[in-house]
Amino acid sequence: MKGLIPILDAGHGGMIAGQYQTAGKRSPNWEKGIIYEGMANRWVVNRTIELLDNAKIPYLHASPEFTDIPLWQRVQRSNDWHREQPNQVYLVSSHFNAGGGKGGEIFTSKGETKSDPIATIFYKHMVDGLDDHVMRNDYSDGDPDKEASFKVLVDTNCPAVLIEWAFMDNKNDYNRIWDKSFIEQCAQVQFCAIEELYR
Ligand SMILES: [Zn+2]
Repeated sequence: MKGLIPILDAGHGGMIAGQYQTAGKRSPNWEKGIIYEGMANRWVVNRTIELLDNAKIPYLHASPEFTDIPLWQRVQRSNDWHREQPNQVYLVSSHFNAGGGKGGEIFTSKGETKSDPIATIFYKHMVDGLDDHVMRNDYSDGDPDKEASFKVLVDTNCPAVLIEWAFMDNKNDYNRIWDKSFIEQCAQVQFCAIEELYR
């Protein structure tokens, strides 16, 4: 796998004049304040863009707006690019998790697809690049990614992976997400995996 171009995706909406654009999708209001997921997703994706620009690695972006671009539209944009450049693009969607877990994980659609080897590369960089971070996985089918029927994974025609970097509602992860060095690690992980798939 070489010459692959990522379609970056920052999950949910961002902040417009201090107003979060998405219902729910946020941390508890603990001592450092609320983490709005779409805001933190953009921290990671925007820093990744900076690293890619510096390395002259091309990318596409399914959700550059601060508004919450609907999932069908993220899929449609990805499918349009896939039609223009078949077998050259893949989607990588960035998220933070909630629901009472801890650590990071990466998802593909169910079954064995072209997304699995891509997810394995991202997973490897997550293990190597996120210091002291719990990694959640499912090796029952021989690879470390977990499987789920998220719309951006099942309706995209190109390979697609979805990363959950950490849990907003776990106290330890919550503190890490507010730590700039952790966001930097997430961006470096994303960058290193993208670089490996491109060069
Ligand atoms: Zn999310």
